Amino acid sequence: MDALKERIKAEGKLLGEDILKVDSFINHQVDVELMEAIGRDIAEHFQGQGVTKIFTIESSGIAPAVFAARYMGVPLVILKKRSSKTLSQNLWQTEVISYTKDVSYELTLSKDYISDQDHILIVDDFLANGEAATGALRLIRKAHATVAGLAVLIEKVYQPGRAKLEEQGVAVYAQTRISHCGEHEIVFAE
Ligand code: 5GP
Repeated sequence: MDALKERIKAEGKLLGEDILKVDSFINHQVDVELMEAIGRDIAEHFQGQGVTKIFTIESSGIAPAVFAARYMGVPLVILKKRSSKTLSQNLWQTEVISYTKDVSYELTLSKDYISDQDHILIVDDFLANGEAATGALRLIRKAHATVAGLAVLIEKVYQPGRAKLEEQGVAVYAQTRISHCGEHEIVFAE
């Protein structure tokens, strides 16, 4: 997706060799118009595939996922990284290792918001090692629902996320693909 690629080129910052900081338009300040265009593009890509719900993982996937859900006309479910007093019963949970924070968390979903009739599209900001998306997939499978695919804004091609998901039969749609991060440059895969 050209608009996203241009924005990453202009404003993306490298933290070491691995982590791309996109706080000025995705992760901290949010460019709502760009998120709407991203959500519409995701909706168009998965159009006609029988998606009944979009799942995202709090918090950075929420903005694009809202627009994807709006354009597809389906509900959005936000998978939580911790349970709370209001979310303590009737749950599906699975442990996930956080890529950027190097800690693990219990990915949590209320059983009220999934059924074995659901065909779910997962939306997230980044695909790195595929841990977050694989966690979402485990929750979906625990509930005997099915997966339409995974849509991410940025795939880091040099990390094993795509291979991990495709091995499990998940179709991956990445709007931009980064083949490597040099010392001062971000190189995109074609
Ligand atoms: P994975 O679970 O695929 O290893 O990592 C995906 C999650 O880690 C995403 O939800 C995202 O929040 C975070 N993440 C992974 N790589 C990056 C990165 O380079 N930059 C930022 N900002 N987040 C990342």
